[in-house]
Amino acid sequence: MDLSDSAEDAEFRARLREWLGKALPTLPPQPSPDDWPARRAYDLGWQRTLYDAGYGDVHWGASPTVRLIFLEETEKAGAPYVGAGFVGLLHAGPTIAAEGTAGQRERWLPPILRGEEVWCQGFSEPDAGSDLAALRTRAWRDGDDYVVSGSKIWTSHAEVADWCELLVRTDPDAPKHRGITWLAMPMDAPGITVRPLRTLAGSAEFAEVFLDEVRVPVGNRVGEENDGWRVTMVTLSFERGTAFVGEVVACRRVLGELAREARSDGRWDDPALRRRLGRLNAEFRALWRLTQWNVSEAQTTGGLPGVAGSVFKLRYSQARQELYDTAADVLGDASLDLDHPWTRDRLSSLSYTIAAGTSQIQRDIVAERILGLPKGR
Ligand SMILES: Cc1cc2nc3c(=O)[nH]c(=O)nc-3n(C[C@H](O)[C@H](O)[C@H](O)COP(=O)(O)OP(=O)(O)OC[C@H]3O[C@@H](n4cnc5c(N)ncnc54)[C@H](O)[C@@H]3O)c2cc1C
Repeated sequence: MDLSDSAEDAEFRARLREWLGKALPTLPPQPSPDDWPARRAYDLGWQRTLYDAGYGDVHWGASPTVRLIFLEETEKAGAPYVGAGFVGLLHAGPTIAAEGTAGQRERWLPPILRGEEVWCQGFSEPDAGSDLAALRTRAWRDGDDYVVSGSKIWTSHAEVADWCELLVRTDPDAPKHRGITWLAMPMDAPGITVRPLRTLAGSAEFAEVFLDEVRVPVGNRVGEENDGWRVTMVTLSFERGTAFVGEVVACRRVLGELAREARSDGRWDDPALRRRLGRLNAEFRALWRLTQWNVSEAQTTGGLPGVAGSVFKLRYSQARQELYDTAADVLGDASLDLDHPWTRDRLSSLSYTIAAGTSQIQRDIVAERILGLPKGR
């Protein structure tokens, strides 16, 4: 596998770097992390800027190699994170691009790319997290609509979302994986109640969503009725396999900042700290190489990331926690300051081994689907 830039890639990288150098200084200041409407406006504004400059569709319109260069260069330059665009750009959009009809792609993809619409993910339920196929939110046909009742939980960005990629049970008598359907639900439909949940870091980034006879047009179904589990696997392969890769570059940046901080006040003399930083550096370099490998493998399987995404997700989520634990040690007492970005990131890093499938579930997937071990459950 050749991991060096082709001539075309190198040209893309140089052009992007030059553009970022001009575009980033013109950005408005970042809003408070707790002000979600302002964050939505800021994140969509940045996506619009990317779109106007011809980079809007890089997450799924470009080749995977170009996408990685984009993530690498934007992170290195300190460009804004995808933020409220996470679900739309990184997994709902790619799912619609892969599984939607021409009309659905036409309806939903351009507004995501132009930074006009935010998506959220309504998969988890109070009794269906790791065992997602146990979901009970019910949908039944009434003319040209599905009527949906039930509840979802941990729905990130629900408060500011226009659309929800929603899993519903359309056949309660079928085996649990076979009676599920993937719908695009407009978040302004009557019958939806969003109740924000506050996290450890104080921010209401996710919510409970209650659905009381919400009407969703049959035309908003992606894939066939009762074939939603297969579509869900496509969504999760993007969520686990590619959605977090830009953050690896960000972690390498933080690692550099940590080393500088430690050098500035004598803590660098501690060999144990230097060893931790060195090991983390090796971890994140290896994760970046793994990402490149996954991406080049995906190129040979029609662009869909495979189960190797679980290997990445498993190791990345743990390495991220170790990084911010080390940051807390370097910061000392200052790590108690909730306004310090490393402290916030440390608290949110705790969720990484849970979100998008827990570490135990990723280990099951690696054991069964990569190593071929017998099913544990
Ligand atoms: C920050 C964050 C954002 C999220 N955003 C969204 C979102 O936008 N949309 C959405 O739908 N969901 C979202 N989630 C939910 C997430 O997908 C679930 O929390 C996750 O799948 C785990 O489900 P659970 O919380 O119900 O835990 P449970 O499934 O109840 O698991 C509890 C514990 O039991 C372990 N366990 C369960 N089953 C097994 C098994 N078979 N073998 C071994 N161990 C097992 C788990 O690993 C875990 O440690 C988010 C979660 C977080 C933390």
